[in-house]
Order: sequence, then structure tokens, then C-alpha cells
Amino acid sequence: MTEAPPLREALRAAGLSADKGFGQHFLLDLNICRKIARLAGDLPGETVIEVGPGPGGLTRALLETGARVIAIEADARFLPLLAELPGLTVIHGDALKADEAALAGPGGARIVSNLPYNVGTPLLIKWLTGPFRPRSMTLMFQKEVAERIVAPVGGKDYGRLAVLAQTVCATRVVMTLPARAFTPPPKVDSAVVELIPRAEAPSAKLVEALQIVTREAFGQRRKMLRSSLKTIGGEEICIAAGVDPNLRAEAVDLEGFRRLAETFRKTL
Ligand code: SAM
Repeated sequence: MTEAPPLREALRAAGLSADKGFGQHFLLDLNICRKIARLAGDLPGETVIEVGPGPGGLTRALLETGARVIAIEADARFLPLLAELPGLTVIHGDALKADEAALAGPGGARIVSNLPYNVGTPLLIKWLTGPFRPRSMTLMFQKEVAERIVAPVGGKDYGRLAVLAQTVCATRVVMTLPARAFTPPPKVDSAVVELIPRAEAPSAKLVEALQIVTREAFGQRRKMLRSSLKTIGGEEICIAAGVDPNLRAEAVDLEGFRRLAETFRKTL
């Protein structure tokens, strides 16, 4: 593996080790970092928001592309190391509370991140449902989470996350990485998911309705929709939406959920 000595040395010199509380698993191989930056698309001149730069491997690769990089890091111990990277804007804080639209400015931004495991899913849900619509997202997750994001209808991984992510974005896994690529290695392998918002992305109101419908439907995924959706209209809402009430949630495709959400929204 090609390792960037300055990164590992910088960590050692600063006396820094990974803090599990912050979900820290570092990528110290600059070749891997550069590959992820390439997978994020044509970055020169783009604004990129990176969550959790940590020691800054991926950050360096992103800066090398000529992108304007804004990094949000919760762990203050890394701030002196990050301050040494020319051109980088660093925000010290919790990405769950960040106002990405204000950070990005009128031109918008892409998001590229080796996400902290503990807050990866809540961050993705924030970007799928919140007011800030990134132009693209290139995000490292635990492999199981990545599989749940891209899962096709009908399988065991198909659930709320798949319906929400795939309704808002075109999604695909663009890279998988073994646990040993990270320092320290996590217990599971990882994968990078690319999410590109659809031109016909649903409105905020529809996304809100979709969240309620999928919560009910997948909350009791063994039951038929007529019974799992009882609290929000049961059989009636299914028939109005043109979806068979005898189906279980995992058999309802994206279009079916979209129609259920549209029908439910009208009842609000
Ligand atoms: N980007 C680095 C790399 O690839 O080596 C570090 C990735 S590590 C998996 C996740 C990083 O996110 C850590 O630096 C951690 O401190 C930071 N982090 C954890 N929770 C955060 C939060 N809520 N907001 C911003 N950064 C966070």
C-alpha cells in the first residue's frame, strides 16, 4: 500500500490516536484518497464540503483537484494539522448542525466524505430530506449501510433508506474497501456510494409524506399494507394510490411508494 508518510508521521508527532467516540477510522493511503476524489467527478472550480477530515488524507486529495474545500470537523485535536493545508476552510463543529447552504454559497456544493460510522445514516437523511440539496454526494459507509441505500425492490435490504435515497437520488456503489485499508481497521468492510439528485426530485412536502408512509410500511414489514398502513388510511389509501393492499412493503417499488406518499399528502 502506498502510504503518505507525512500523514502518519503528522499523527504520531501530534500524539493523536483514533477516538471511537467520534467514529474515527482513518484513510492514510493517499492513492485510495485520490481515487475517491476522482470518483467524486469533475472537481476543479467546484465547492466541496467534506465532513470529518480528521488527519486530512482525503482532504489533501480533494484540494489537489483544484476544488474549493470546506471541511467540518467535530474533533478539535485535528485543527492544528488541518490549519497546515493551504486553501482549506475548516469549520469546527458538528456536521449534523451545520448550515451547508450558507457554507456553500449561491453556487451550491458537492459533498465528499469518509463518514463517521456513528452518524453516517443521520447525516445522509439530513441531506436527502433537508433544505440543502447537494449537487452530488460521494460517501463512504459501512458496507451493510451502502447495500441498504442501493437495495433493489424485493430483497431483505430494501427498506426506508433505499426508498428515500433512490426516490431523491440515483444511487450506486462505486468502490468497496476492505476493513484493513483503515487505521484502525473497523470490524466491517466499507463501500463508497455515489448519490446524484434526480432532476425530477420530489418536493419537501412529498419527502415528508414519504418518510411517514415508509416508517409505517416497513415498521411492520411482515404485514400486508392494508394492516401496516392502518393508522394512515390502510386499504383505502392503497386503492386510491393504485397499490395492491395485499402487498408487503418490500414488494412495493419506488413508483408505488411515491404514489402512496402523494395520496397520503392529500389527506393531511
Ligand atoms: N476523513 C478522514 C479519513 O478519511 O481519514 C477521517 C474519517 S473518520 C471515519 C470520521 C471523521 O469524522 C473523524 O475525523 C471524526 O472526528 C469526524 N466526526 C465525527 N463525528 C462528526 C460530526 N458529528 N461532525 C463532524 N465531524 C465528525
